[in-house]
Amino acid sequence: MSSVCLRHKDRETDIRCAACLRPICEECIVMGPGNSRFCSTECSENAQKSSERFADMTRRDEEALHAARRAAFARLVIVVLFLFVLGVGLHVAWPSLPQALTGPVESWFDQIRNLKLD
Ligand SMILES: [Zn+2]
Ligand SMILES: [Zn+2]
Repeated sequence: MSSVCLRHKDRETDIRCAACLRPICEECIVMGPGNSRFCSTECSENAQKSSERFADMTRRDEEALHAARRAAFARLVIVVLFLFVLGVGLHVAWPSLPQALTGPVESWFDQIRNLKLD
């Protein structure tokens, strides 16, 4: 299905502007970025601007994703550090902790050891 050119009503064409989709003939083609064909420099510039805006958007999305990943990683590091410090602290403080606290825990470990031996 062919249409007539936007400016030359006597010329049939299958080519359409990449931005506004209006039919244009060979003579009216304005080459834009990425070998796209436009009806006018306006359309070409508009397409270029919107593609730049799109690239800008994806860049911002990627940055947001990276920031979220960094934040998640930082949280993980903090949790691991906290557990490490807690473990070391417990290990160091274990002998000086009251028997009421350490006794039950040590008896659990004894039970687990006995289970494995059986
Ligand atoms: Zn156009
Ligand atoms: Zn034309």
